Amino acid sequence: LIQPATRMNGLPTQFFAKLVAKANAQAAKGRDVINLGQGNPDQPTPPHIVAKLQEAAANPLYHKYPPFSGYPFLKEAVAKRYKEDYNVDVDPTTEVAILFGGKTGLVEISQCLLNPGDVCLVPDPGYPDYWSGVALAGAEMSFMPLTEQNSYLPDYEAISPELAARAKLMFMNYPNNPTGAVASAAFYEQTVQYAEKHGIVVASDFAYGAIGFDGHKPISFLQTPGAKEVGVEFYTLSKTYNMAGWRVGFAIGNAQIIKLINLIQDHYYCSLFGGIQEAAALALTGPQECVNELRAMYERRREALFTALDRIGWKAARPGGSFFCWLPVPEGFTSEAFADLLLQEADVVVAPGVGFGTHGEGFVRLGLLTSEERLQEAVERIGKLNLFH
Ligand code: PLP
Repeated sequence: LIQPATRMNGLPTQFFAKLVAKANAQAAKGRDVINLGQGNPDQPTPPHIVAKLQEAAANPLYHKYPPFSGYPFLKEAVAKRYKEDYNVDVDPTTEVAILFGGKTGLVEISQCLLNPGDVCLVPDPGYPDYWSGVALAGAEMSFMPLTEQNSYLPDYEAISPELAARAKLMFMNYPNNPTGAVASAAFYEQTVQYAEKHGIVVASDFAYGAIGFDGHKPISFLQTPGAKEVGVEFYTLSKTYNMAGWRVGFAIGNAQIIKLINLIQDHYYCSLFGGIQEAAALALTGPQECVNELRAMYERRREALFTALDRIGWKAARPGGSFFCWLPVPEGFTSEAFADLLLQEADVVVAPGVGFGTHGEGFVRLGLLTSEERLQEAVERIGKLNLFH
């Protein structure tokens, strides 16, 4: 009786739902599972932001429908943060769209721009939600391999001119999920030139913009001259302020694209609850020490993890940003078989690299999403399996 539309066939099955189910099944056996598989921040939202929501929830204005495309005060707060952090000027009225988390915008931009037959350039490995929007638009994906030799940056020269001519949209994401790679200003300049030359829109996913290590402050794509002419950047409060459950994000940049995203948002959602918008504005304009503390916490965790990895002989490069570590699997295992082994034998959940694309095979992703002690414990348990020499 129920016949799904053909566009649903293109939607990838939720790889991470499978991972969660396996982890839960292991925990249900009464095992002490250490979950480093999901990208879910473990710390609570800073109290001043929570208190603002509690107060704002009582405001009867917010009990009505919010204005379409959201409250101007939140867009102004976004513009202020981008000015302070990146010295980027954005017009809050035309160059900012409020999103239900970065995710919605990352899916919607494909629906805004792609026709069936158009090509979208997608990083491999990469965040799987990019695929969903392309599938819903009935467009075609072309994967850009991210390899260690090329510092996990796409190689534009490897893309054929025929493919480039059909490409209409491209995703990129630095600091990168899942590899932890960061991008330079020179790479972004090259990206703008490439996009201009081939008429490709750039969707820069800056979800981990606040998390750079070793004194490196991640660069926003919008800092690049000409960036606003060719693209938009997606930003989220999920990671920067531990607000993943609140579902607040933004698209910032090219006014024509922002208008299209707002139009879709207006039809689907109207906008976010006003109380959340007020608390989000405070997160962006209030004290930022919490962000510095968060960055320092992830850097301490990274050091604890890599010191432990060194002890068991598991060799890998440290991430330059994000809260993910990208580690090679020992010879003889697929990433999925290795992740299954770690779950069964060490009660440690890691994400198999193949879940992020075929070029993710041979790696697993570990999130720095528990305490230093638990990270060390996870590695000690893995060490007991004697897989590294
Ligand atoms: N982009 C990347 C690379 C992510 O890892 C995530 C979340 O895990 C998101 C975007 C989406 O974040 P949210 O929808 O919570 O804003």
